[in-house]
Amino acid sequence: MNAAKPAAHPRSPEKPPVSPGRRKFLSGMAGAAGGGCLMAMGVGIYSRQASALPALALRPPGALPEPEFLAACTRCGLCVRDCPPGILKLAAPGNPVPTGTPYFTARTGPCEMCQDIPCVKNCPTGALDTELDDINKSRMGVAVLVDQETCLAFLGLRCEICYNACPVIGKAITLEKRHNPRSDRHAMLLPTVHSEHCTGCGLCEKSCILEETAIRILPPALAQGKIGEHYLKGWEERGKHGKSLIGEQLEFEVRGLEGKRFGDTRVHDEAPTHTDPAVNLADPPPFDPALINGSHSESTP
Ligand code: SF4
Ligand code: SF4
Ligand code: SF4
Repeated sequence: MNAAKPAAHPRSPEKPPVSPGRRKFLSGMAGAAGGGCLMAMGVGIYSRQASALPALALRPPGALPEPEFLAACTRCGLCVRDCPPGILKLAAPGNPVPTGTPYFTARTGPCEMCQDIPCVKNCPTGALDTELDDINKSRMGVAVLVDQETCLAFLGLRCEICYNACPVIGKAITLEKRHNPRSDRHAMLLPTVHSEHCTGCGLCEKSCILEETAIRILPPALAQGKIGEHYLKGWEERGKHGKSLIGEQLEFEVRGLEGKRFGDTRVHDEAPTHTDPAVNLADPPPFDPALINGSHSESTP
């Protein structure tokens, strides 16, 4: 699917210098960060790392790694002045972001991915890497669907708002089709982020219709794991060497799948399970044609 690129913003050459009024505190971060204990713990660990930004503060596109960025940025504010939608802010004293440095918060003001990347072009020091010539290659953070329990798509409802908001639609977010075991007759279309294509612009987080977003942009160091260098993926090694490197395998019982051989732990051939007592598999209700003729909301499985 082709990415729907947003139009470039016309930039006025007569823009006034940064006004003190734009130097606002990073409002709402504490509330947004309180999504869950696990999240809070991860954010705490991340914030204790040297030179870490608050987890929900994002640097403009092309920003060097944080220590190098802090060394190179002179706090001139030219990127902030030249950001057409005005989403960039300069951190004020007392702000958890280092004073005078530019940042944005996805939920309140995502990067609109200007095709001409004026923030980068107008950075005089290289703190925003001038080699970034394609906004789709920027990595401001990475989107993570942080809460499947509240995401409407995972509840089996039609939403896809974040998917449709993504400027790298079809690459950075795809919709993965799953059977809905609750209704037993509908598909769930689950937004799934592919980090290699995600720019971290935050348009998905901004668009999430929940009161507290179920999808957030996080710094890659907080959002992503890392497989150890020593770890070999058997299927890749088999492809390279033409045979398995481990030879004969020992068989162990798989907890929860006792009685099945280790190589055959399929579950898809089992009867569907329902947790919703309202669903009667033995006597399902008759099919309602209104479900497909438009007079009935598709979001009501
Ligand atoms: S690319 Fe993003 S941060 Fe840079 S000027 Fe455009 S909206 Fe602002
Ligand atoms: S942050 Fe969200 S909207 Fe932006 S590229 Fe990534 S998935 Fe798409
Ligand atoms: S917009 Fe929010 S609720 Fe809707 S699918 Fe995306 S993350 Fe889920």
